[in-house]
Amino acid sequence: MDHVGIERHAVSTGIGRLRLFLTQNGLRLLRAMVWHPALPLCVVCGLLPIFLTSALAQTASKPPVALEARLEGDRSVSVLTVTLTHKVDVEIYPMQSPDRLIIDLPAVNFQIPPAFKSARTPLVKMVRYGLLGADKARIVIDLSSPALAGRISSQMVASGFARELSIEIKAADPTVFALKAQEAEFARRSQLLTTDKPNEGAGGILPLANTKGKAADRRPLIMLDPGHGGPDTGAVGLNNISEKDVVMAFAKDLKQLLEQRGQFRVMMTRETDVFVTLDERVRLSRKNNAGLFVSIHADRLATATEVHGFTVYTGSEKATDAESAILAESENRADAMAGADSEAAREDISDILDDLVRRETRSHSALFARTLLGRMEASGQVMNKNPHRSAGFRVLRAPDVPSVLLELGYLSSKTDISKLSDTVFREKMTTDIADAIQRFFATTQANEAQGVLPH
Ligand SMILES: [Zn+2]
Repeated sequence: MDHVGIERHAVSTGIGRLRLFLTQNGLRLLRAMVWHPALPLCVVCGLLPIFLTSALAQTASKPPVALEARLEGDRSVSVLTVTLTHKVDVEIYPMQSPDRLIIDLPAVNFQIPPAFKSARTPLVKMVRYGLLGADKARIVIDLSSPALAGRISSQMVASGFARELSIEIKAADPTVFALKAQEAEFARRSQLLTTDKPNEGAGGILPLANTKGKAADRRPLIMLDPGHGGPDTGAVGLNNISEKDVVMAFAKDLKQLLEQRGQFRVMMTRETDVFVTLDERVRLSRKNNAGLFVSIHADRLATATEVHGFTVYTGSEKATDAESAILAESENRADAMAGADSEAAREDISDILDDLVRRETRSHSALFARTLLGRMEASGQVMNKNPHRSAGFRVLRAPDVPSVLLELGYLSSKTDISKLSDTVFREKMTTDIADAIQRFFATTQANEAQGVLPH
């Protein structure tokens, strides 16, 4: 693969060898049974599959654990070292705009101490990592200037219980970097073309309960969408708080509350710290006929640190203000930040739907935004000076599912950070949102019964 610019560093995981060993010996055993029918066939045949499956399952079900990571070096050479419990296969390639190195590896249980989030060198701005699906993980090295992978090694540490994977990052000529990045992109795209099915994302495996056997559950479905995930950390605030973790904790609280109330079914676009593309989030809400899509964020506005308080965004081609336009633009880059190609999955959204449906969806989204803000105001929540804004968020593009994006607060504001980590405050906020969801459905159902469309 070197000729296409992807540096492959194949380190055996051991699973392959174990599988070969079992296959060879299993076959030998089966052959022996054919030639020696005296062998207690039933016992051997019964035990063999159990032995094979359990041995493989044990090896496969325990992903390697990343215990520690170090980053050191200068402007010309930096080295990233990750301590792992097992050997792993890694694939490294560069990507442009912004310049970064992507390291793909099998699923890894990342237990790296949080302090590593602030590790940097003059050459490396930041290292992000996380799961990309059930069986893939990714490390993203954000570069301050173009650089390519140099020497890669995997060595046993002195204790003998773990291995250190070291990746040299060497400053590169911008033209060479650009060329390698293009070659890698070309290779990835041709690989995508030959793969039979696009990645369904983590959410694709969430089953819809109660549709088989029992009577279909007719309660409206609320799709909660905790933003970011996996290598896409979202905003990083003071004390290294990641947006992806803040919004996940909040979404889980809200899900629990809604389920307790019993009027709705609730699904989440991601339930773990895994990356899901923006289009996949939209696709999931449409596929499952969600009655409402609520994307949850807590961003950071680098240019406007004074901005704080709760904000509801609805989708629109034209942003209400410059800050919203900047925010939507940075949110829409989420796929690229995690190194995903998103263009391939677009066609799903481009269905030609009746304009009336779109307009109705849009007015429902606005109705929910107003209902929620009314509720928040009544309970004395601190809101943004302009709490209802619109912009072209990709995640709000479902033409037939009312969708909103909530900014719970901003990780660039000290006041908001302390509130988001306060359980009493969070409880108040989830209660207001759940109340607003109930009121919204009560209104739309009543309107539908009377044949009235909201404005
Ligand atoms: Zn966000």
